[in-house]
Amino acid sequence: MNKDIATPKRTKEILAKHGFSFKKSLGQNFLIDTNVLRKIADAGNITEETAAIEIGPGIGALTEQIAKQAKSVTALEIDQRLLPILKETLAPYPHVNVIHQDVLEADLHQLIREEIGEQEDKVVCANLPYYVTTPILLKLLEEKLPLRAIVVMIQKEVAERIAASPGTKDYGSLSIACQYYAEAETVLTVPKTVFVPQPNVDSAVLRLTIRDEPPVKVKDEAFFFSLIRGAFRQRRKTLLNNLTVHFDAKKDKAVIEELCQKAEIDPKRRGETLSMEEFAVLSDIFHAEYGG
Ligand code: SAM
Repeated sequence: MNKDIATPKRTKEILAKHGFSFKKSLGQNFLIDTNVLRKIADAGNITEETAAIEIGPGIGALTEQIAKQAKSVTALEIDQRLLPILKETLAPYPHVNVIHQDVLEADLHQLIREEIGEQEDKVVCANLPYYVTTPILLKLLEEKLPLRAIVVMIQKEVAERIAASPGTKDYGSLSIACQYYAEAETVLTVPKTVFVPQPNVDSAVLRLTIRDEPPVKVKDEAFFFSLIRGAFRQRRKTLLNNLTVHFDAKKDKAVIEELCQKAEIDPKRRGETLSMEEFAVLSDIFHAEYGG
C-alpha cells in the first residue's frame, strides 16, 4: 500500500522519478502536509454525494484527499507535463477525471453539464496558483456556476481582503465583489513550511458559501460594481472626490454631492466606511443620472 502522495518522502520520490522541475510562472507550490490537505477537504463538507471540481491538481496531493471523500473529482490542470504523473499517482482513484485545460479559458458551465450533471452537490476545492487567484475567483463567482461552495488555499492577505468587513483596512471592492455572491470566511491559516517549494507569502484557506440570492438588489449589477471600484479608486480620498473622477464630473461636482445626499450618505465619507447596502442605494440613485 502506497503512502499518501503528499507525504514529503513520496512527493520527493514522484518528482525525482519523473524529473519534474517546478515552474514558478505557473504558481507551482505543492502541499506536503496531509493534515492540512484533509482540513481543506473537510472545509468543503465533501460527502459521497459531492462532485468536486479541482483547479490545478499538481501531482495529485489534494486530489487524493478529496477523492477519498467525494463521489467524483474533475480536475483541470494547465501543465501538460503533469498529466502522465497524475495518471500514475491517481490510478487507485477511478472516479477522478483529469482534464488538460487552463481554467481561465474553460467553459465551466459546459464542463459541469457534460462531466458532472445537474443533480449533484457541487463544490470547487483547490490550492490555487497564486498569480491568478483573483481572476479565477471572480470567474467562478461572476459566471454564477451552480456551486454550493468554493474552498481555496490562497495568499493570506487576499483571503483577509475578501472576508473583510466595512470600516477595516482590508475592506475594498474585492470584498464586496465576493460577498455579493457568497458568504466569506477564513477557516485556516497555514505557514509556508507546508509547501514545496515554499512561497514568499503566508497562506490561508478561504471558504465561500454561495448565496441563493445576493444580499442587495440593484438595478444594474455592472454599474454597481463599477461605481464601487470608482469609490475605492484612491483609498484616502472622499466619496465626493473619487466619484467626481469616476463619473468624469469635475464641472458638476455639486451634482455628485446632491446625489450622495439624496442617498443619505455624507459625501465626505470614504468608500471603505460604506456597507454593501449603502453602495446599493447609492448605485441606484447614481444610475438614474449616469446609467445607460
Ligand atoms: N493541488 C496541488 C497541491 O496542492 O499540491 C498543486 C497546487 S499549485 C499551488 C497550483 C497548480 O495549478 C499547479 O499544478 C499549476 O500547474 C496549476 N495551474 C496554474 N495555472 C493554472 C490555470 N490557469 N489553469 C489550471 N491549472 C493551473
